[in-house]
Amino acid sequence: MSDALSRFKLDDDEIREFLAERPRRRDASAKEVCVCGHGIGRHVAAGERWVCRPGRQMCRCTNPRSVLKVSDNRFFASKTEGEGSRHALIRGMVLASKSERNVTMEWLLEPSCARPECMRSDAEADLQPVPINRAGRISNRDEAINVFACRDCRMKFGTDA
Ligand SMILES: [Zn+2]
Ligand SMILES: [Zn+2]
Ligand SMILES: [Zn+2]
Repeated sequence: MSDALSRFKLDDDEIREFLAERPRRRDASAKEVCVCGHGIGRHVAAGERWVCRPGRQMCRCTNPRSVLKVSDNRFFASKTEGEGSRHALIRGMVLASKSERNVTMEWLLEPSCARPECMRSDAEADLQPVPINRAGRISNRDEAINVFACRDCRMKFGTDA
């Protein structure tokens, strides 16, 4: 401990705890995108929790999960306002695909419907990323939980819009 700091009586255990809980940042250079639609490096650990900070805004994602590998992740900072084209993951993918930078995007997993009794992943399933709120319904804003859901299961989730 530096001399300047030594004039304070500090509890070593508490200090150790604080150091252990210091926010860690996921590798910001990792070109992976979370299911919330934001770079995995935008998720910062705060104690036991993760918080997602894409740019100036905040995102409620607390369950970072890489789903997409991209050559350039700067396009993935949109706001989620609902499912599908209103979801940050789709918005980011649209921006990236429309850019002149030839952004490559590759799924890290095969997207499939999150309902265990369904798990469809075929093209006809019409999968979309959806924000799920605490009531288990599709939300019209960013939420802690984001999943893929097929058309039928999106009807079952229902919306809280
Ligand atoms: Zn996010
Ligand atoms: Zn996330
Ligand atoms: Zn389904």
